[in-house]
Amino acid sequence: MISEEILNELKEKIGNDKIKTEDFHLMTYSRDWSPRPKDDTHLPNIVVRPNSTKEVSEIIKVANKYKIPVTPIAGLTGMGGGAVPVHGGIALETKGLNKVLEIDKKNFTVTTQAGITVLKLNEYLEKEGLWWPHDPESKPSSTVGAAISCDNDSTFGIKYGRSVDFLLNAVIVTGTGEILRIGHRKALCTSTGYKLHWLLIGAEGTLGIITEVTLNIFPIPETRAIDGYLFRSIQDALNGLNRLLQSGLSVESAHINCKSRLGFYTQAYREKFGKEPEIPDWAESILFISFNGDKEVADFSQNYAKKILTNGQIVKEREIIDSWWSSKHTLSLIPFVQKWPDSQRVKKFGSADLGIPIGRIQEAYELYNQIAKKYDIQILGMCVYNERPNRISPSISFAVFVDDSTNENVKNFYNYVKEMSEMAIKKEGTMSTYIGDGDRLGGFNRIEHGRSLDYMYEIKKIFDPNNILQPGKKFKSQWIS
Ligand SMILES: Cc1cc2nc3c(=O)[nH]c(=O)nc-3n(C[C@H](O)[C@H](O)[C@H](O)COP(=O)(O)OP(=O)(O)OC[C@H]3O[C@@H](n4cnc5c(N)ncnc54)[C@H](O)[C@@H]3O)c2cc1C
Repeated sequence: MISEEILNELKEKIGNDKIKTEDFHLMTYSRDWSPRPKDDTHLPNIVVRPNSTKEVSEIIKVANKYKIPVTPIAGLTGMGGGAVPVHGGIALETKGLNKVLEIDKKNFTVTTQAGITVLKLNEYLEKEGLWWPHDPESKPSSTVGAAISCDNDSTFGIKYGRSVDFLLNAVIVTGTGEILRIGHRKALCTSTGYKLHWLLIGAEGTLGIITEVTLNIFPIPETRAIDGYLFRSIQDALNGLNRLLQSGLSVESAHINCKSRLGFYTQAYREKFGKEPEIPDWAESILFISFNGDKEVADFSQNYAKKILTNGQIVKEREIIDSWWSSKHTLSLIPFVQKWPDSQRVKKFGSADLGIPIGRIQEAYELYNQIAKKYDIQILGMCVYNERPNRISPSISFAVFVDDSTNENVKNFYNYVKEMSEMAIKKEGTMSTYIGDGDRLGGFNRIEHGRSLDYMYEIKKIFDPNNILQPGKKFKSQWIS
């Protein structure tokens, strides 16, 4: 697919050192974190690592001329196969685009190249007392460009929102190699033109390579107060959270975990301290919450929450709260590295990531248990993240363990995802809230989008007339028919 002649043309444009063709390099870029059979690999023909928008443009011009598929690749922690080069071709590694271009303290914006990791960007901002409060657990590896491309969840979504709330403008390279700046400079809202930059959110690289972005940023809050409350059902936890929000408190993070997921934290406690935590048998869910801001405000919020959440029981063991917090920020929670019920690193996991209307979450939880059982899949647990400012805004991970030893087992997992997705649509929700379509939901997602899927494809053609950017992704599935 990539002849010597094409390779030489690329070398001339971006330099030999930015092109890799050795097998061990190709192998590194052949999988992401999506459940796939353990021997399944999709090798690109070459890997390129540009440092500038201009170099990205040169690469795409060559790819477009010879109709070579291009897969933008960042930290490879995506869980939907978005960064897997299923058609070979060029793996465009974006992590060379890692420079912070401007921190504008007066206007609370940062302009950065898009391949920087979320963690690194925040390390730069911290020196100035600033913060991009977008916080996926995978932040040490995952990049700013991928956060936008996957429309990530964030630990702090219930206060600060997601990409749609931060992204002010972006520079992209389209499928013809054209460099385009889209968005509204540093203004926080606009009513002119179409919001083309919002099309990038969740586009998974199908419309263009994001090379640069300007984001709204915030001062680092003085302090944070964190608690956990046990409830008799998921619904009770949701009602409690709703009361907190109605009271006027500003909640920084709010995650509701089911009993199974709570088991991870209690087990971590048992393993570490060799004693039983005081968790009553009736506890069916746990609400972890945090408040941030000036110390007086955070303390007041924490105490006021105690007054409101009277039908919940506060978790006494601070170690359980700390282990939740560290699971969000360091990935060092004991269950991630030990065998209970199996380490996530030993036994693979996958999720149906659904958006369910707030009044139907308890029903969805019960169906999750039934559907997993039907496919003979062990559940890992459900977590309700909240992702829009100041409201219950569920992005729900219905996680299960995946046995990736055979093709058949992996297909079984995707059949589970399919049935869960159908359930979400019946409940007037959505099939994906943070993983994206990737190479799993495409085509099948017509049950969600109907005729508008054709309009989406027409939009893609405007940005990428020869369909070289991520061919098939979002519009075809490897796993679901
Ligand atoms: C341990 C772990 C924890 C996780 N925690 C979270 C979490 O808290 N919240 C959450 O939402 N997700 C989470 N995820 C999922 C995953 O980390 C996110 O989806 C993340 O955004 C992927 O980033 P990445 O840099 O690894 O991207 P990749 O997997 O490399 O790519 C993801 C997609 O973005 C596209 N892309 C990447 N860069 C660009 C670019 N510059 N321009 C255009 N397209 C681009 C790729 O083509 C691909 O389609 C987690 C995953 C793991 C393994």
